[in-house]
Amino acid sequence: MKYISTRGQSPAQRFTDILLGGLAPDGGLYMPETYPHFGEADLAAMRGMNYRELAYTIISRFVDDIPAADLKTLIDKTYTAETYHYVREGQNAEDITPLLTLEPGLHLLSLSNGPTLAFKDMAMQLLGNLFEYELARRKESINIVGATSGDTGSAAEYAMRGKHGIRVFMLSPEHGMTRFQQAQMYSLQDPNIFNIAVHGVFDDCQDMVKAVSNDAAFKAKYKIGAVNSINWARVLAQIVYYFKAYFAVTDNNAQKVSFAVPSGNFGNVCAGHVARMMGLPIDRLIVATNENDVLDEFFRTGNYRPRDAAHTYHTSSPSMDISKASNFERFAFDLAGRDAEVTRAMWARVDQGEMVDFKAYGLFEKVPGYGFVSGASNHGLRMQTIRETYELYGVVIDTHTADGLQVGLKHREPGVPLVVLETALPAKFGDAIREAIDQEPERPAELKDLETLPQRVEVMQPDVNALKAYIASRIDA
Ligand SMILES: *Cc1c(COP(=O)(O)O)cnc(C)c1O
Repeated sequence: MKYISTRGQSPAQRFTDILLGGLAPDGGLYMPETYPHFGEADLAAMRGMNYRELAYTIISRFVDDIPAADLKTLIDKTYTAETYHYVREGQNAEDITPLLTLEPGLHLLSLSNGPTLAFKDMAMQLLGNLFEYELARRKESINIVGATSGDTGSAAEYAMRGKHGIRVFMLSPEHGMTRFQQAQMYSLQDPNIFNIAVHGVFDDCQDMVKAVSNDAAFKAKYKIGAVNSINWARVLAQIVYYFKAYFAVTDNNAQKVSFAVPSGNFGNVCAGHVARMMGLPIDRLIVATNENDVLDEFFRTGNYRPRDAAHTYHTSSPSMDISKASNFERFAFDLAGRDAEVTRAMWARVDQGEMVDFKAYGLFEKVPGYGFVSGASNHGLRMQTIRETYELYGVVIDTHTADGLQVGLKHREPGVPLVVLETALPAKFGDAIREAIDQEPERPAELKDLETLPQRVEVMQPDVNALKAYIASRIDA
């Protein structure tokens, strides 16, 4: 399996090469040159598999430069009941992504039972093990520099903590995360994890990270890398749970299932798209956004109109506060019939901050053929959905999942099971849950005192030179 760039001007690469890199040199995103296909007989054989077997069956079709036995070991060590153990009452941690059935035909898929209580652990934990393996094999090391406003940073830190050959420098806005999220990150005492609280907002953090990676000499000398959401391996890992959920809610492969996906960077739902392209009988892929509705606008109008940071709203589902969906280019590439020239022309405009009208390229009318529909939620609807879900089913859901459920229900069809991806546990977003149902979200017992643990964090001005000096001093030490 080779990987090609959506912009068509970079040489094809093997999996482990794109694993450690970021964007393709031509600015595009890497895609498998073809999608492996699972036919009727394959699906029948996969139906009885546990999560690890399923993960190996799927992932091994995309990876041919890691020996099979090693890949299997890495997958087996990633997807364990111990790692994904924050299950709800009645759920079995062995399922890794257990279902929570609200009523017949309506299910939540629990993707947030990992160490940071959000779905990003599903992919990031595998990435941590793959990175460590590949770096050791190449006798290399990497220093990951990233910016976070919450879930990504903590998922990266919990995936990379204690890993050989890897250091993580994670910038976060000094006042931009919940106390729970801060405590989650800042309480890590692993010597390879460095938390940096920037006296500024998230965009300051992101600008600092960009400035560091734009300094080619610094980047090369200090082996600076990233684990951003465009990493193909993250999308790949997420394909697995669409299959797991499909088998869990159907009893034969003639049935179809729809998925509602709380979306920001389009990574999660892109994995659903790939699963569908591989032959999984998915009916609808329901893209749910919050007030930052760039994706909903696209699926309603055909206009893709990324906004800048100044036009990004801060909402009560903050992990979806994204106005430029970095993985969307992957879908656009497929929609364009994998025509890299067309993708390149469209993204030349996106990169200028301009709107792209997919109708002008004759592509918007192709969207329904891919199963996509969409909707946008907002604070009022989110609160109402959390309240109603609690009253009707006795289940407390987080704000992102509420957006998914709210939009999903609008597109629900009779006779087609609807699976809503639960992308975070409510414990992470206490303020919003208190506002919705006037009570404290339940929290896993072992995290009861999280906020009282000693914290390890460096406070810094939004100053690139200070950041570089800090990184250099920690690496040279
Ligand atoms: C990251 C995140 C999302 C959005 O996922 P994308 O892959 O960026 O579309 C939704 N919900 C939660 C809780 C997240 O952390």
